[in-house]
Amino acid sequence: MRFDTVIKNGTVVTASDTFASDVGITDGRIAAIADSLPTENAGKVIDATGLLVMPGGVDVHTHLDMPFQGTTSSDDFETGTIAAAYGGTTTLIDFAVQTKGSPLRKAFDTWMGKADRKAAIDYAFHCVITELGDKQFEEMGGLIRDGVSSFKLFMAYPGLLMVDDATIFRAMQQTAKFGGMICMHAENGGVIDVIVQRALAEGKRAPKYHALTRPTTAEGEATGRAIALAEMAGASVYIVHLSCNDALEKVREARDRGLPAYAETCPQYLFLSIEKMEAPGFESAKYVFTPPLREKWNQEKLWQGLTRDTLQVVSTDHCPFCYKEQKEMGKDDFTKIPNGGPGIEHRLSLIYTGGVHGGWFSPNRFVQLVSTAPAKLFGLYPRKGTIAVGSDADIVIFDPNEEQTISAATHHMRIDYSMFEGIRIKGVPKTVLSRGRVIVENGKFVGRAGSGEFIKRQALTHVAR
Ligand SMILES: [Zn+2]
Repeated sequence: MRFDTVIKNGTVVTASDTFASDVGITDGRIAAIADSLPTENAGKVIDATGLLVMPGGVDVHTHLDMPFQGTTSSDDFETGTIAAAYGGTTTLIDFAVQTKGSPLRKAFDTWMGKADRKAAIDYAFHCVITELGDKQFEEMGGLIRDGVSSFKLFMAYPGLLMVDDATIFRAMQQTAKFGGMICMHAENGGVIDVIVQRALAEGKRAPKYHALTRPTTAEGEATGRAIALAEMAGASVYIVHLSCNDALEKVREARDRGLPAYAETCPQYLFLSIEKMEAPGFESAKYVFTPPLREKWNQEKLWQGLTRDTLQVVSTDHCPFCYKEQKEMGKDDFTKIPNGGPGIEHRLSLIYTGGVHGGWFSPNRFVQLVSTAPAKLFGLYPRKGTIAVGSDADIVIFDPNEEQTISAATHHMRIDYSMFEGIRIKGVPKTVLSRGRVIVENGKFVGRAGSGEFIKRQALTHVAR
């Protein structure tokens, strides 16, 4: 037996098992998993003694090179995917956003163009529907067949992205027909807009009012409504960036009833809280994203939710805007601060630190949350999301005990601040492989922009969940 690469002496961790084993890679795929593999003829041997060998991270919620609120997110598909690779993420699903009135296909083509020759890791797309005329309705099945097997809808941002319940219901029915998934931004945008307008009229213009005008009840209500609409349409629904207990309770109730309702949360909701909005001056603009930071007690509920499978996935909602010039657009009016924060690089380390070292769950559950479950829910499994013979050799070799401090001074995202500045992490990716190629070696990027491929995702009807 000859392998291109053999990973020796590591501890393989999948969503279900932990075992000492070598991993042999040929032609970009995992070719053998065994006690001891021959290395004489191997092209490359990686010693993983004392390290964990896990499937590469799958981040199903990123916004690279996205125009929004008069500017564009600061990471493009090159800088963003390189930062992702540093953090052990080897596949991401970004959002192709439909311009109102245009074909959905045009959004897909546009985002394919943005990623082409830039992405350093594999990628796929959800399609954001902002207007669903008869033509776009007819396009949905074709997109699912072409590997865009999920659509995102917004119940927030009236006038920009928000769609009404009838549109949501129609999109859900059509998605269910072709076996796709609906991703939902669940906040009651109409109510929030009334509260925002009142705040502005009262002269409340500082960044903290972004958080204070978006109550948890607005997220809970919309989450419950999204699930009810999905139930009536016979569709699966995935609540994105769930931030608070009010929304978590709605998902828990639905899942207790056996509905195909799923949800993700993000590291910012697990590690940060609304106290950040009390920072002096304009500093708190760094934490203006949607949903906003919540009262601290919600964090424990979210960790519990991850442990008990009320929440299935941790993604990042990476949507970076620099503090200088971009966040500053809202210096005198919080509604003009571009909404979003950077997170693509530190998801695995943060969740390993808080989840595994924090005593909430096992390394297997960690792998499930950051890789296997997102791959399964979004039609990438078993090509992505596990260590198995035949799967892509997307592998992160992880030191569970190395400690680092997160800082904008050392991160690789193209942004001038970190949401997690000063936070100590324990658990760091050392070597990262994408389809068998080493792209991060001893903490240095050695991959190549443009080597990432578009991954055509399967419809859910073909996927074991
Ligand atoms: Zn988002």
